[in-house]
Amino acid sequence: MSISALRKLAPMGKRLLLFGPPGAGKGTHSRRLARDLGIPHIATGEMFREAMGRGTPLGREAGEYIRRGELVPDDVVVRLVAERLSRPDAADGYLIDGFPRTLGQARSLERSLADEGGQVDRVLTLEAPRAVLVERLAGRFTCPRCQTVFNRSTRAPRVQGICDACGAALAQRPDDDEAAVQRRLDEYQAKTQPVLDFFRARQWPIERVDSVGQVDEIYTRIRDAVGD
Ligand code: AMP
Repeated sequence: MSISALRKLAPMGKRLLLFGPPGAGKGTHSRRLARDLGIPHIATGEMFREAMGRGTPLGREAGEYIRRGELVPDDVVVRLVAERLSRPDAADGYLIDGFPRTLGQARSLERSLADEGGQVDRVLTLEAPRAVLVERLAGRFTCPRCQTVFNRSTRAPRVQGICDACGAALAQRPDDDEAAVQRRLDEYQAKTQPVLDFFRARQWPIERVDSVGQVDEIYTRIRDAVGD
């Protein structure tokens, strides 16, 4: 019997996608959610930032787009995700944060899922008004070492400028400056929003989550939307 046939018989872990515009809280909630569900957390933006930090060829290529607030070309992203999904820890479920962000990426994900029924178990889409997103991104600080996300007004670190989780100095992401933020929100509207229609057309289960409010309150809504 083939591995994919065996996998269909075995109870599968969850295959989840976390979707939403910049500032909606994907980074804040996805790591915690993946840990609580015992599945790997696959975040394309984090993978690119790590590569940029290490100065690898991938990091240099992606960095040019990321600093301008533009999307990295599909072929680069698709290769990165395909390699990550082929690792053994992703065989029984995963939480993908920040992918797919274009129709081309969505089609490629659908193809790579073909063996397992061609769909994910749930798409969680975090939603908040644009004014809330802009304000959150302006007050956001990220740990360059462990990628924990803080916010000046809603999730301040215990010691100003220092990561609670690992003690590194916090920094503002280069793409959180005002011009890049506006461009990222426009890119989301133009290129990523249509991906939701793609999911709908294929009847992938979409759960909309209101991402306005306190961090724990939003996380509870996300857990409810994941179900069991
Ligand atoms: P994020 O951390 O998810 O906000 O991603 C940061 C930046 O990485 C984005 O603004 C894009 O430039 C790039 N990026 C991350 N994921 C993707 C993707 N799936 N497709 C294209 N670019 C991406």
